[in-house]
Amino acid sequence: MITEHLDEHTRFERYPFRDSVNAMVDKALDLMDLPAGLPEHIKFNDTVLQVHFPVKLSDGKYHTFKGFRAVHSDHYAPVKGGIRYSEAVNRDEVEALSSLMTYKCALVNVPFGGSKGGLRIRPKDYSVEDLERITRAFAKILIERGYISPSENVPAPDMGTGPREMAWIADTYRNLRPNDINYFACVTGKPVGAGGIHGRHEATGRGIQYIIREFFRHAEDVKLARLSGDLDGKRVVVQGLGNVGYHAAKFVSEEDGAKVVCIIERHGALLNDNGLDIEAVKEWMVETGSIKGYPNATFTEDGLGALETPCDILIPAALESQITKENAHRIATKLIVEGANGPVTAEADDILEERGIIVLPDALCNAGGVTVSYFEWIKNIQHIRFGRMQRRLDEYRGSKIVEALETMTGKTMPANLKSELVQGADELSLVRSGLDDTMRGAYQDVSEAFHRKDKITNFRTAAMYSAIEKLVFTYQNMGV
Ligand code: NAD
Repeated sequence: MITEHLDEHTRFERYPFRDSVNAMVDKALDLMDLPAGLPEHIKFNDTVLQVHFPVKLSDGKYHTFKGFRAVHSDHYAPVKGGIRYSEAVNRDEVEALSSLMTYKCALVNVPFGGSKGGLRIRPKDYSVEDLERITRAFAKILIERGYISPSENVPAPDMGTGPREMAWIADTYRNLRPNDINYFACVTGKPVGAGGIHGRHEATGRGIQYIIREFFRHAEDVKLARLSGDLDGKRVVVQGLGNVGYHAAKFVSEEDGAKVVCIIERHGALLNDNGLDIEAVKEWMVETGSIKGYPNATFTEDGLGALETPCDILIPAALESQITKENAHRIATKLIVEGANGPVTAEADDILEERGIIVLPDALCNAGGVTVSYFEWIKNIQHIRFGRMQRRLDEYRGSKIVEALETMTGKTMPANLKSELVQGADELSLVRSGLDDTMRGAYQDVSEAFHRKDKITNFRTAAMYSAIEKLVFTYQNMGV
């Protein structure tokens, strides 16, 4: 039997995303003793801009597009959040994603408020030239209305957008605000050659890897999930081989010994019990436009059904409302690591909890993107690459230590050890180190909240609780 496949609009109507996020937030708010009225303020978006705008495309005709940018909370400035290109974009979705950004930034101690944007468009239907026209027109409106600027609102990539779109946005901003010396900081996720930072493109998937590693360092949590050991040999299922899913799957399989036994994409799923080669599947997908026909694997059209493949770790990294009350009973994993935003609905959460399946929530797991965006923004306003001042000094000191050790012992240090000691940190190593530190710290805060409060029975409520605690602390210190 093929699992009922819903198009994105129907899925959204059936599982309203904002209601689901608010239900999750309510669980944490119910455990807190906040002044009357504050819980409502925390949940609602401060502002939402909805625009319709015309663009003359290469066919010589005017086409009208619909876009949104929501600001959930500007307790810190700038506010931060991606811009999504998808035909299913709607106001509720953008508001839900915007609120998740606030909680996410709080969790990873990134001093930004939450925002999100979306354009209702199917990028595949347009040429690169037309996409550039549309992106620049949308950016112009957002800039003119104060919804893009280095000090107020800083977008980043999300589903359907990437470094290319971010570069177009930065250039549009620069043309409109030529006197702003910090123009590069108006958007993050740019190509490295256009004001970006090494490690941003991989950051969300890399952050997921760091969260899973940290999970396996917490024996109590590992036991709760009925798992043992570390990532080595674990069976992993990944949904979505885009930016987030591809990097997460690549890193856990190539670096930590996990076996990716199933990859689910738009048109179906690939299965191989011995593990799939992520790089090869990605190459196939880029060349042919689909995972279908990839050799060395079994293909099924029932992508949603493939979410039920038995595994140790399931990483939904495509879109929201994939695990719902319809299929949560059949999910056959021990640990869900949410790469996408909102892949598990609030109702499904309850079912999974009853079944003892641990869910590590989106606001924690995919916060690597905004963390490295924060590093990029700092780099842009400092106007200097990380490591530029100290790298050679570190190398000099390292070589002096090697020299001293060799003189004192009379022995020659093995070449591999020597090269590690004399190597100064470049930007990518510094970014990865900062990301690892951030993700570990966030996991520890969430796990600590989970074990500290008796009434917190899952990691999502723990994450929301931890994030809202920080948010309220800021509100109270700065005044709402
Ligand atoms: P992307 O566009 O790069 O990739 C999404 C992938 O999912 C694509 O390969 C697409 O073909 C696939 N997909 C679409 N519909 C599907 C379906 N029904 N079943 C299976 N696969 C399907 O997007 P992304 O940037 O990787 O974002 C994915 C999710 O992660 C989104 O929820 C996004 O909000 C979230 N996220 C992204 C970032 C980031 O840095 N890019 C950061 C945080 C969260």
